[in-house]
Amino acid sequence: MQAPGDTEILALWERGLSRHPIDRALLLCAWARPDLPSSSFPDLPLGKINRVLLHLREICFGPRIIACIDCEHCSTRMEVTLDTSQLLAGINEDDTTNKFDNRPAEFEISNLRFRVPCSRDLAAISGERDIKAAAVKLLKQCCLELPESRKTDFASMLPKAEAAMEILDPAADINLSLSCEDCDHSWLASFNIGSLLWDEIDVRARALLAEVHSLAQAYGWTEPEIFALSPQRRAAYLDMVGI
Ligand SMILES: [Zn+2]
Repeated sequence: MQAPGDTEILALWERGLSRHPIDRALLLCAWARPDLPSSSFPDLPLGKINRVLLHLREICFGPRIIACIDCEHCSTRMEVTLDTSQLLAGINEDDTTNKFDNRPAEFEISNLRFRVPCSRDLAAISGERDIKAAAVKLLKQCCLELPESRKTDFASMLPKAEAAMEILDPAADINLSLSCEDCDHSWLASFNIGSLLWDEIDVRARALLAEVHSLAQAYGWTEPEIFALSPQRRAAYLDMVGI
């Protein structure tokens, strides 16, 4: 996997700008893994998507991530330094070879078979505001066979289902164990690599547009001409025009 160049960053940003965050993550995955059919990504287990995104983040912006998180108890803003290799530790698989296995793992509860969730399932519950109702709906989505009784109590299966999903697809939900220095509160915060990576690409794309704007205005160069300059020459010209 190679880092996207300036032209590719802008093309990705342009294509993802009006998309839902779930679709943006899939867009980035499809870019990172051109060897796989893009139509397969919505059905991949969420952990596989997260692993591809963590690798892509490492390639694009390096392994070090500095995230700002507010304490959920006293709202004090904390700066947390993360590392992609630490986040991938224990949840990594050999995703870089042709052994990329896209079959979702399955489990059984009360004689019903389920699979681990994929992005298509997240999209199906994205309009649900109630967390418990969303979890039940997600479990129904993942049920591989119609229950004999329409009164099947999916809600009561949630604890076992969540435990099974955690074991079978540990990278699906990346949690950070945090502690606030101000109030000593400790909690688990969910870390969304898709949102973080998109935000970083958005910042990079807008910075590139600003650079093109300044140099085009000053010298009359086109966007391809500006991107053809070496980073050193571009920086030197930007310096001369006062950017
Ligand atoms: Zn606090």
